[in-house]
Amino acid sequence: MISVFDKSALQQYMLDNKIPLFRAKQIWNWVCKYGKTSFSEMPNIGLKLQDIFQKNIEICTPSVVNILKSIDGTTKVLLQLEDKNTIETVLIPSKTHNTICISSQVGCTVGCKFCNTGFNGFVRNLTTNEIVAQYVAMKKITNSAISNIVFMGMGEPLFNIDNVLQAINIFTDEDLFGISRRKITLSTSGIVPVLEKIVDKLNVKLAISLHAPNDQIREKIMPINKLYNLEKLFDVCQKYNKYHSFLRITFEYIMLNNVNDTDECAIELAKICKKLNAKANIIRFNTWQGACFTESPISRVKHFATILKQNGIDAPIRSKHGIDIMAACGQLSSSNNY
Ligand code: SAH
Ligand code: SF4
Repeated sequence: MISVFDKSALQQYMLDNKIPLFRAKQIWNWVCKYGKTSFSEMPNIGLKLQDIFQKNIEICTPSVVNILKSIDGTTKVLLQLEDKNTIETVLIPSKTHNTICISSQVGCTVGCKFCNTGFNGFVRNLTTNEIVAQYVAMKKITNSAISNIVFMGMGEPLFNIDNVLQAINIFTDEDLFGISRRKITLSTSGIVPVLEKIVDKLNVKLAISLHAPNDQIREKIMPINKLYNLEKLFDVCQKYNKYHSFLRITFEYIMLNNVNDTDECAIELAKICKKLNAKANIIRFNTWQGACFTESPISRVKHFATILKQNGIDAPIRSKHGIDIMAACGQLSSSNNY
């Protein structure tokens, strides 16, 4: 079987079988723009061809185990893969655009102390098709236009970088999804050697889970910092800036009560942002069963953001989405919490 997302293989298949190439474009249009996953749902393709395609072209369709809708409009979907592993994907609507939050792994190896995904361990990397299929499934379920993609679901995308880069190529290909690279964000906990290798090719937006302005605090909440400390991380950020002067880095910063939320931390963070021409995204901690942190009071969060702004740093506070359905950042897991 040929994967529908393998552009050159599908085009070759059409050529080999003397089928006009516009048929490939028709298929991509149905799958990528309309979320159709069966050839019988493609009325501009004749029945005979539909049947041939059904036997030869594979459209990865994980089964939908559960759909939850939050009072704020966020949708969370639990998808089951062929090997029965499950992943979660979230759609966050806003007035101007809809953003899909995509998973790159089943679980995560990084083990950040504040994250539910990390807490539940690691199973395996997702294939390119499984990454892309989340978009198609969400499109099919919600029937909405999805303009933005963030790799902020389950998993560390840099530990599955080959498949993630391939998925980004599929998402940005004009013949397939045609999504602008500026509307795609890859979020990472900072796997420095992988970032080093791809920093010149990664022309999507980069978000870095910083969460602390110095090694002392970061080590305590993100064990990965012992391997790749902030000096190494900032070096590679500088390289990213050199290659992509038109894309600004975002530092994600979760506010953990009495851990990283002091005025001094805000001032340190402002210095880092200034040096790297980055913005900060202030995230309120989303809790989960077993978490050993509490969220900073909202007054502290606002004060922290104000200090950053007074220092000339763009520092929006990310609003909480889908809290009532455990769909917010760091709350996703494969376990059935429905
Ligand atoms: N592994 C990648 C991407 C997935 S996590 C990364 O770590 O960047 C997406 C974002 O959610 C990250 O910024 C992560 O630090 C944040 N996050 C994790 N647990 C959280 C929690 N409990 N509350 C709020 N944000 C959390
Ligand atoms: Fe993995 Fe990201 Fe969660 Fe850390 S925050 S455990 S890197 S998913």
